[in-house]
Amino acid sequence: MPEALPDPLRAEGVLFDLDGVLTPTAEVHMRAWKVVFDDVFERWGITPPYSDADYFDYVDGKKRYDGVASLLRSRNVEIPWGAVDDPPEAETICGIGNRKNAAFAESLRGEGIAPFPGSLALVEKLSAAGIPLGVVSSSKNAEEVLAAAGIRSFFRIVVDGVVAERENLASKPAADMFSAGAVALGVDPARSIAVEDATSGAASAAAAGFATVVGVDRGTGADALRAAGATVVVDDLDVFLDPAADESARSDSAAQAPRSDNEETA
Ligand SMILES: [Mg+2]
Repeated sequence: MPEALPDPLRAEGVLFDLDGVLTPTAEVHMRAWKVVFDDVFERWGITPPYSDADYFDYVDGKKRYDGVASLLRSRNVEIPWGAVDDPPEAETICGIGNRKNAAFAESLRGEGIAPFPGSLALVEKLSAAGIPLGVVSSSKNAEEVLAAAGIRSFFRIVVDGVVAERENLASKPAADMFSAGAVALGVDPARSIAVEDATSGAASAAAAGFATVVGVDRGTGADALRAAGATVVVDDLDVFLDPAADESARSDSAAQAPRSDNEETA
């Protein structure tokens, strides 16, 4: 149980990252990137080989093409940027990004996706309480993923990779994405909560002025999330389901309850 959890029911609004926060899409993305980069690295003789650490260091949370460019740059490989309508076979930044997207879409269609149970329960609770909710995702597949997971209707706004491209928003970790989310939702970041699982996203939310940045540690690491700007780090959003009851139960037993009560509380 983390220290001093904020109460999301008191927030003016809550903005959620999608991949890795609401849905385990990160796993689907990671598999798709690995298929594509393993092939590219092998054919081009790039070393060291692509690893999961590369995903977290260079790709996670970024816009797709920025992720490709960032990873290749880490291996001193430069290729033409190309254009967004490059076919998936094109050996350009955009072509490789589009190849990955095809692999991702195929997996999503074939296997579907279920939201994290703790995230779904929190979203249902906040939605029932009338808290304005939004999604801020770098993904161009956000609408497709939200629909596949059956949770699109909980969110009043979605600022995703499609919106970012149209409105020229800079990739996370710049403040643009979360700032645009707050504006679209009509809330003040200083009274709202952002929820992120990537360091780039936590940094974006912090730069946008969110009072509370909840880092969800799905493998990135609590220290890395805090260093990027998370004000609190949790393992799963289920910790928010009834923190007040939990906390008061604890402090009651510590401060007031006679010691003999301890055995009755189970
Ligand atoms: Mg994420």
